[in-house]
Amino acid sequence: MKQLRSNVIRAGLEALYLTGAHRLFHPIFAGIGSIFTLHHVRPAREAAFQPNSHLEVTPQFLRAVLAHLRSRSVDIVTMDELHRRLTERDLSRRFASFTFDDGYRDNRDFALPIMREFDAPFTVHVTSDFAQGVGNLWWIALEMVIAKASAIEAGIDGAAIRIDTSTPSAKHAAFERLHDWLRGLPGRDDLAREIGALAASHGIDQAAICRDLCLSWDELKPFAAEPLVGIGAHTVTHCNLAHQSDDIASQEMATSRARIESAIQRPVLHFAYPYGDRVAAGPREFALAKAAGFKTAVTTRPGMIFPESAEYPTALPRVSLNGNFQDERILPVLTSGAATAMWNGFRRIDAA
Ligand SMILES: [Zn+2]
Repeated sequence: MKQLRSNVIRAGLEALYLTGAHRLFHPIFAGIGSIFTLHHVRPAREAAFQPNSHLEVTPQFLRAVLAHLRSRSVDIVTMDELHRRLTERDLSRRFASFTFDDGYRDNRDFALPIMREFDAPFTVHVTSDFAQGVGNLWWIALEMVIAKASAIEAGIDGAAIRIDTSTPSAKHAAFERLHDWLRGLPGRDDLAREIGALAASHGIDQAAICRDLCLSWDELKPFAAEPLVGIGAHTVTHCNLAHQSDDIASQEMATSRARIESAIQRPVLHFAYPYGDRVAAGPREFALAKAAGFKTAVTTRPGMIFPESAEYPTALPRVSLNGNFQDERILPVLTSGAATAMWNGFRRIDAA
């Protein structure tokens, strides 16, 4: 199903590019700028089973995006500057802001050198448990369990089931099923318990995943001192905030902010909602982020920035640089606003 959706999106992007129809969208749907969502930046890997590949782009693709924006004279700005332009109505030039979620070490090792080539600032939204080395990167643990196993026993909705994971297509189907089940579990602890049990029974060390992939506090300090780097918050545990009580959701925001500020000795004024889609961040979370004092908070709802986005600084949409669509030909389509307009039903503002 995800593969089908992926193919439909790819066909849509290509059709827009080939027909030039994206140009018709430009005046109405391009807005005044965009915020890009990225996760990993690293060289492509060989493995056949990479169900999280949408969360990574290659250094070459990142460079192509930056070159495209520079060729169009788009200003690449910090989230502070984006906020200033919106609130002061300083909208004469198009802008783009780059955000990287979770706090991966490859952001330092592969993204930073390329961002430097273009003198382009960027924001990394750090999950504080990941920097602490105790985070639950459950989607990667699940990938590793399924890659290794030929079958998986799991208790889903009270029933013990056995899922075949012996072939590449079975692995993809199993990932989709288990991923959706885990993401739908209500509490923070439910997800941790279930993925913990799966990882333990298949010999996957979750703490090692976190330490291997994420910047530690010691690494974040010098990274945050880089002139082009801004650090934002992305909760303590990377939970689905919409599933939490008011108290826990507020504490996830405030505590992650406090921990990051104390580690890097700088104010943390920007936030990204984990998962960030409609089922993980809605009006209550937008209000909580505002109450927590964040200047901006970004979702993963697709969309461009419009002048009226100034009224919803904690419900900002983004444009995903999705690893499954690393084709330079789609860049004019992405920056025209045509793709996001189609994906969000031609809304300029989507904050409800
Ligand atoms: Zn995240």
